[in-house]
Amino acid sequence: MKAAVYYSNSDIRIEEVDDLTVGPREVRVRVMACGVCGSDVMEWYRVKRAGRPGGIGAFGHECTGTIAEVGSAVDPEWRVGDRVVVTHHVPCNTCNACIRGHATACKTLHTTKFKNGYGAFAEYVVLPEINVDRGMLRLPGPVSFDAGTFVEPLGCVVRGQRFAPTSDGRSVLVIGAGITGLLHIQAARLNGAGFIAVSNPSPERLEIARGFGADATIPASEDVPARFRELNGGAGADTVIVTAPVPVCVEQSLEAIGPGGTILFFAPTNPEVQSRINVWDLWQKEVTITHSYAADFHDLAIALKWIQHGRVNVTGMITHVFPLRETVKGFLLTARHRDGSLKAIVHPQE
Ligand SMILES: [Zn+2]
Ligand SMILES: [Zn+2]
Repeated sequence: MKAAVYYSNSDIRIEEVDDLTVGPREVRVRVMACGVCGSDVMEWYRVKRAGRPGGIGAFGHECTGTIAEVGSAVDPEWRVGDRVVVTHHVPCNTCNACIRGHATACKTLHTTKFKNGYGAFAEYVVLPEINVDRGMLRLPGPVSFDAGTFVEPLGCVVRGQRFAPTSDGRSVLVIGAGITGLLHIQAARLNGAGFIAVSNPSPERLEIARGFGADATIPASEDVPARFRELNGGAGADTVIVTAPVPVCVEQSLEAIGPGGTILFFAPTNPEVQSRINVWDLWQKEVTITHSYAADFHDLAIALKWIQHGRVNVTGMITHVFPLRETVKGFLLTARHRDGSLKAIVHPQE
């Protein structure tokens, strides 16, 4: 089969790779659509995972498709032709992290992946037994393969707002208006937020964010916390969601948060970055700082419901669709946005 093989963000080659056999408890999925994620284009991470440029390293995880082959011992509820959304990371369900409700902190979740090792920018992926058991959702008829690729990114957002509530009319500051920022804005509205503001360096992105439901926009060049207070009747934010992985945004979040508020670090700074916090300030304001990583099955299922019932506009975020041979274009657009680009999706069968 053909698969995209990663050398760098500007050098992704379509290569003929070995077809893998499907074991008795495994499933082969014909990939119909796979979204390019911000994490796919983190070059250093990609090459590290693969061992070397062009090494086998999974990339492409926001994918949908149809079942092409079912192992003999798989639950007969799964049949060839079924439309599915599949996830590469699945938890063990028995470790302490899983028991404590943090399945996405599970070691098994961090190490599980599709069997083909190349990820889903490929004609097929084979799901190992554990993924068949707990990493496959049925894609309902009305949900297109393209829309289904948002189950994973939206699931991550659902999870983030479980830890950092936006309900009950809370005021929310979303820092960063990338795909995840725009999904957070929409999720906050669904969850019952009050005033929602978003900050970003690009005026074009801020305009787009308004279209996705932000009440106010703040150019990143301004004093973001001060401007938020002005717009919010003098009060700090009840919830700050940091989707931009830069130190200045960490500082802004600490300044913008109001008493009793919660800061969600949805995107991390680079591993070597240390952030300073003033515990005194946080103590007096009873501020909660929390983080969320990835999505568990529960989060993915909620995301799928929201997409299925049109509660979140995801198709409006898809600005580019590429055939497999042009996967590199999707990467370049995601690494450096231009021409109003938001989400790039690859169709591996084209
Ligand atoms: Zn993703
Ligand atoms: Zn576990």
